[in-house]
Amino acid sequence: MKEIILAKYGEIILKGGNRPRFESILINNIRNSLKNVAETKVRLAQATVYVEVFDEDKIDIVMERLSKVFGLVTIVRAAVCSKDIENIKLKAREYLKSDLNDGKRFKVEAKRSDKLFPLNSPQICVEVGGYLDDEFPEIIVDVHNPDVTVKVEVRDFDAYVYADENKIQGQGGMPIGTGSKATLLLSGGIDSPVAGHMISKRGVEIDAVNFFSFPYTSERAKEKVIELAGIIAQYTSKINLYIVPFTEIQIQIRDKCPEEHLTLVMRRFMMRIAERIAQKHKSRALITGESVGQVASQTLAALDVTNSVVDIPILQPLIGMDKQEIIDRSHAIGTYETSILPYEDCCTVFTPRHPTTNPKRENIIKSENKLDIEALIEEALAGVELIEVYPN
Ligand code: ATP
Ligand code: MG
Repeated sequence: MKEIILAKYGEIILKGGNRPRFESILINNIRNSLKNVAETKVRLAQATVYVEVFDEDKIDIVMERLSKVFGLVTIVRAAVCSKDIENIKLKAREYLKSDLNDGKRFKVEAKRSDKLFPLNSPQICVEVGGYLDDEFPEIIVDVHNPDVTVKVEVRDFDAYVYADENKIQGQGGMPIGTGSKATLLLSGGIDSPVAGHMISKRGVEIDAVNFFSFPYTSERAKEKVIELAGIIAQYTSKINLYIVPFTEIQIQIRDKCPEEHLTLVMRRFMMRIAERIAQKHKSRALITGESVGQVASQTLAALDVTNSVVDIPILQPLIGMDKQEIIDRSHAIGTYETSILPYEDCCTVFTPRHPTTNPKRENIIKSENKLDIEALIEEALAGVELIEVYPN
């Protein structure tokens, strides 16, 4: 039986005069995400994306890809029927026979966007519902608490039938490319990949920066960061990952600054370097993974010290979330298992035993003025390595 995938989008509908631009970016993103997966035809009509998959064995993988495209809210496979009520009834019986069994309660919901179709929506419901009730004697009509909602949509070229319960949730959000670009400070931890996903979900393209302290952090730690970027790229498409050599800066901080200030001085270097990389690549904001009070360097006083070194906006989408909420999201987007692999991050190499939790800007500035800040930044920038990371 011929099937099609129907994908519905959400917030784009509210875009008024800009809606066609958002729709065309969404369609392009969908085509890109399916390019190497299956031969498909993607078109849009009446706030629905229709995806025809020419090789039916590939429908599941196409569904899986669509579930990672920002902008789509629901995705479902449906049977394609000619626009004739008898045909719709037969197709519904055939297509939904495995859903309509074992004393299931069901109802029919119909939508007719083709007003030339001879039956209106309530009439379609009565016809299809009555027929299914006769054909499957063990099922029961229940319009209030159905187990199965049979959907019939009569649209421009064809009619479609599916069970509402077979819908899968999309990511929601806005299509990538509708919200300019931001630069994610990507560590190997649990938090920053989630932060990157949350901002990219709003349509923002992502570059990533990682600070890497070889040999204190191993080659495996770098591979882990690349792998995390590859998982985020499943949602965003290719990510440019800038690896910044950070060893010299960390050694100088360790040797010249008071121990309790190590983390904050280091974080200030990260922000400055990330800002330069962002400016060079026309990125409009930084993204980091802090949540208030999670660790000593994430108190409000510490965030003030860290964030005050740059002018560029800093997006911290996890700021009000609990660790468990962040972990749940990390599972949902698929980064958790990689994030917990036990490789060192440069932050954990030289950690103070008693970090300050209530730092003052002027004290940290005094500490870091023992270093040639500009020279260290220039040297790090000169050694930046670009890795183009594709979805894995
Ligand atoms: P994460 O789980 O993202 O590592 P965290 O809870 O360990 O976060 P911190 O170590 O305080 O937090 O770092 C705060 C933020 O700074 C991180 O979320 C990340 O955005 C950035 N960051 C930390 N270490 C690095 C690094 N090595 N490279 C790039 N960004 C980093
Ligand atoms: Mg970390």
